[in-house]
Amino acid sequence: MTNEALSGIEADVVVCRACPRLVTWREQVAREKVARFAGQEYWGRPVPGFGDPGARVLILGLAPAAHGGNRTGRIFTGDRSGDFLYASLHRCGFANQPTSVARDDGLQVTGAYVSAVNRCAPPSNKPTPHERDACLPFLEREIAALSELCCIAALGAFAWDGALRALAALGHRAKPKPRFGHGAEAAVGPYTLIGCFHPSQQNTFTGKLTPSMLDVVMRRAHSLAGCPVPE
Ligand code: SF4
Repeated sequence: MTNEALSGIEADVVVCRACPRLVTWREQVAREKVARFAGQEYWGRPVPGFGDPGARVLILGLAPAAHGGNRTGRIFTGDRSGDFLYASLHRCGFANQPTSVARDDGLQVTGAYVSAVNRCAPPSNKPTPHERDACLPFLEREIAALSELCCIAALGAFAWDGALRALAALGHRAKPKPRFGHGAEAAVGPYTLIGCFHPSQQNTFTGKLTPSMLDVVMRRAHSLAGCPVPE
């Protein structure tokens, strides 16, 4: 049932055109490209979630990157943020390889599902509140479909807020609203929400988020999910 439900969500996501500004942007980026990817065919559509239908951990980002997920068609794939994230997922036992470069690169994720609050790349990485709300039902459906889920790792304050909104829509309202912070934890209904700085270049280049900081959060998520954590 989980597989079927996730396939249904994916089928609905990839044809969505509900946000005119984001549709225009994602398609313009896909047409114009950047010089280093000029010879590639861009995906240019909404990017579905990716991972293990039996996931106990949901790893939640903000939205696909213009020349990352919007190019490759897989979330956190083909950009520096993805390199940083999947290297950690590999070290922490969630991924079979440390790199994520294309949809056919052999990457397999076990125990985790990777998704984002918004499924279309937004200009300046900033969806409007209206665009966030338009996309949240996809996240709500994913959380409901992932029947083994017990932990959500929110990458950044936008994802933290989006997760809380989706959980509230599913009847799990946290009061008072938990505050985002790196390493923050909150029990929300049957789930534990964990905060983590987003692996954006702005954070990783400045050292605000280091590989070991990300590993601590991912190992904690792994442990909350009841999986043995690799040394
Ligand atoms: S951001 Fe979400 S709701 Fe808006 S067009 Fe993309 S997939 Fe549809």
